[in-house]
Amino acid sequence: MGNAFLLKNGLLVDGSGEKARTAHVLMQQGRLTVLENDAAVAQVKLDGITEIDCTDKVIAPGFIDVHSHMDYFAITDSPEDFDPFVSQGITTMVVGNCGFSPFGFKCGTEHQHLIENSLFKAGHGDINWSSFLGYQEQIQSHGSRPNLLSLVGHGVCRTSLNGFNSSALTEQQYQEMLTLLDESLAQGAAGVSLGLQYKPGVFADMDELKDVAKLVKKHDKVLTVHAKAYSVLSGTYPMNPFGKAHNLRAIDEMLDLARETGVKLQFSHLIFVGEKTWPTLQQAIDKFDRAIADGVDVKFDMFPYPFGATLLNTILPEWVMADMPRVLRKTLPMLRLRFEAYFGFKQVGLGYDCIQITDACCEEYSQYNGKFVSEIAEAVGKGEFEVMIEILDLSNAEARVMFHRYYNDEIIQTLMQHPAALFMTDSWPEPSGIENAATFGAFPKFLQIARDSGNVPLEKLIQRMTQEAAERFGIKERGLIKNDYIADAVVFDWKTVKDNTSRSACSAAPTGIDHVFVNGVQSVKDGKALVGERNGDFIKAIA
Ligand SMILES: [Zn+2]
Repeated sequence: MGNAFLLKNGLLVDGSGEKARTAHVLMQQGRLTVLENDAAVAQVKLDGITEIDCTDKVIAPGFIDVHSHMDYFAITDSPEDFDPFVSQGITTMVVGNCGFSPFGFKCGTEHQHLIENSLFKAGHGDINWSSFLGYQEQIQSHGSRPNLLSLVGHGVCRTSLNGFNSSALTEQQYQEMLTLLDESLAQGAAGVSLGLQYKPGVFADMDELKDVAKLVKKHDKVLTVHAKAYSVLSGTYPMNPFGKAHNLRAIDEMLDLARETGVKLQFSHLIFVGEKTWPTLQQAIDKFDRAIADGVDVKFDMFPYPFGATLLNTILPEWVMADMPRVLRKTLPMLRLRFEAYFGFKQVGLGYDCIQITDACCEEYSQYNGKFVSEIAEAVGKGEFEVMIEILDLSNAEARVMFHRYYNDEIIQTLMQHPAALFMTDSWPEPSGIENAATFGAFPKFLQIARDSGNVPLEKLIQRMTQEAAERFGIKERGLIKNDYIADAVVFDWKTVKDNTSRSACSAAPTGIDHVFVNGVQSVKDGKALVGERNGDFIKAIA
């Protein structure tokens, strides 16, 4: 049979935004040919070509997940970690987000342990390379299921030079940082990612960010940012009861950065954390609209669920983290934390009923994986605060959670309709406990929402999932079903496509994503991921 396919008689949504049309698509030697009619098919020698009837099905370019943290999963020996993503129709993923990337740091740094233990890295073996090319070699020796491309993380680069110290970089460190980032960009990184809510990104001042942005601009690539705040009140800014909402302040700072430097800005996971943050939605959108009207090249990305995965300890203030875990058993500090949590939650519009324990990481509470802290408290007959502290303590602060009230349905709908929206999963398979639904259903969910609400036309939605994402990150010859383009494609049923995840079935496979092809090789057949070769490419973004 080989790797040649004829997708017959489908509804072609080619990624350009053009109206869907009936056509056939030939995939041969990893490349695409669009056959507009039966006469064109008659010209093709069909020996050795697998024909797939796509009547009533949509043929679209493979989806591009613009925000992923699968960097280190890609260099393990378990390619099946990617199966749920490919089963959503995703054929390309952008990794290296939020300031973290598996390269771009100084070789032999004394801060290597911080990089080894960083978020998204822990538990994935040793790093014995440091450059973009070193990571590329790792990918190529393991092989990847989908195509990958990577940003270079400002955070990890800075960590290798100055650790998590809040002191300013020396002039020499500063130049070294710019040189390291420059090198990764020249080698093929898709852009630079900032993680301004994490150490050490949080210590970078505007002058530093400006120099990084100018460097990215020089390469004509994209600057992505995990912003300093996503809620009305955030610990990363000083308290100011009468000042601007922190999430809006963070948006303003980044838009100003793009205005001043002309850099392409990608505002990562634009969420609105907590009920009190939700009313800022329109102001936030107005800011983006005004910037776009001024000629700023800015987009944002989003997932389709009101929750996101994180660690339970991320909600703790700095003074608690600094004295973990002993602080958890001290009476006075715990009293202070109880009150800070109470008022903090109140001001942002959060509560113990939005912290869903996905893995308690301790025997005592593992039976409650999947339950909210408020529910667990009721079940065990203890206070909510006590339960949270016990889980933190017993798990060595490793307990993982799904944080809710990042969005409500209306915000998801509104953002999805915005012309600057791109789509992503921001998820990874959990080693134990409860999975993040986004790993299994994010892209089908977007399709489902668009169809059921009628708010985003199919052609427009697909364009943003494919061509616009490709263009954004400098991905060549992908993102369109077009002659001679690379054969990344998905065949799905627009009428039935559906995300099947729910609270009780968080790892359910979607309905309606029938076939997926990566570089012309079939990766999903009749809705089932094929245990196939790892035929994904590591894409170099060359501007
Ligand atoms: Zn992030």
